[in-house]
Amino acid sequence: MSKGPKITVAGAGALGLTTALALADAGARVTVFDPGADGDNASGVAAGMLAPAFEAVLDASAAPHFPLLMAARNLWPALEARIGVTVDRSGAVAVGDEEFLARVDGGLRRLGLHPTELERAALDGLAPGLAAGWGRGLLVREDWRIEASSTLAALRRAAVAAGVEFRQAAAAGFEGGERLVIATGAGQDLAVVAPELARLSPIKGHILRTRERAYRGVVVRGQGAYVTGAPGGLTLGATMEAGLGDRAVEPSQVEPLRAAGVRLFPDLAGAAFVAETGVRGATPDGLPMVGRGRHQDVLLAVGARRNGWLLAPLIARLIVACVTEGEAGPFAEAMSPARFDAPAK
Ligand SMILES: Cc1cc2nc3c(=O)[nH]c(=O)nc-3n(C[C@H](O)[C@H](O)[C@H](O)COP(=O)(O)OP(=O)(O)OC[C@H]3O[C@@H](n4cnc5c(N)ncnc54)[C@H](O)[C@@H]3O)c2cc1C
Repeated sequence: MSKGPKITVAGAGALGLTTALALADAGARVTVFDPGADGDNASGVAAGMLAPAFEAVLDASAAPHFPLLMAARNLWPALEARIGVTVDRSGAVAVGDEEFLARVDGGLRRLGLHPTELERAALDGLAPGLAAGWGRGLLVREDWRIEASSTLAALRRAAVAAGVEFRQAAAAGFEGGERLVIATGAGQDLAVVAPELARLSPIKGHILRTRERAYRGVVVRGQGAYVTGAPGGLTLGATMEAGLGDRAVEPSQVEPLRAAGVRLFPDLAGAAFVAETGVRGATPDGLPMVGRGRHQDVLLAVGARRNGWLLAPLIARLIVACVTEGEAGPFAEAMSPARFDAPAK
């Protein structure tokens, strides 16, 4: 029987499950609390892109953090082997008007990346069905993808096999653990033991799925939408609605997203989509809060914004380092919850 520390993890999203598994692998006795149904969270609706390159180019908040994003992506092969999922490494292609492509090309090159310029024939092979008007695209191989819902299920299976226990209930505090890891997404329930959670703000996102059109091409990043494959269908994402924490589906958000998808793939015009929503937790500087909180024995793993799946193995590694007092690596300070407490310079 393991004699490791007894740890409560609040939240069974990508961050909570990846962290719980890593803690169990490090010898801790872990119990995960979550009141929700499996996968009914931001992690379950996400597109699953592990996209350091295009996120750093297309999202201003991620732009300064490319080395950190790449380091997180580079931890995925070990997690892939550990939980038995497949990471799709076929890459992602940007298509759009010349101004958009010039901005993407410049951004990628500033990161030291060398996108492959694709002519139309190559686009047809990699992104079948793409609108004829898009004459060229920029392919990066640095961006990968997982299937979010099956990866959540695989994480949970691996965690159970590693001895992690699960309770379908909200954590209101330590729940008997010596340490508490807060991985509650945008949630504020545990602010009483972690005042840092007040730094989080919600960003709602709509994402559309259809089963009427299968897509097995690479991820396409366009203007106003991206398209990925999905089991037996296609996913079209995603909106960014800052400040909103509800999960109601809003037609006013769905329609522009659908229209941007149709501009990429005209044969989506008649397809029936199911809209889903999720709420991302975000910090003021775009990086998550990971590590010790102000309250003794509270550890934070929240605020991963658009990149929770990408960052999950790096966040898990940092939390394990906090618990084992091991080497935290070069990105611990950038993600430390304490960075927001420092007096402004
Ligand atoms: C539309 C959309 C598309 C996205 N696409 C991508 C993508 O392609 N790639 C990527 O990397 N990221 C993507 N993201 C972002 C990613 O989904 C999030 O960053 C990530 O899911 C955050 O994981 P999490 O574990 O912090 O939160 P969540 O997945 O929200 O999980 C938090 C869990 O905590 C539980 N909880 C809340 N309160 C309590 C409590 N008191 N006790 C116990 N449990 C509690 C909730 O029930 C929930 O299950 C996307 C997000 C959205 C919305």
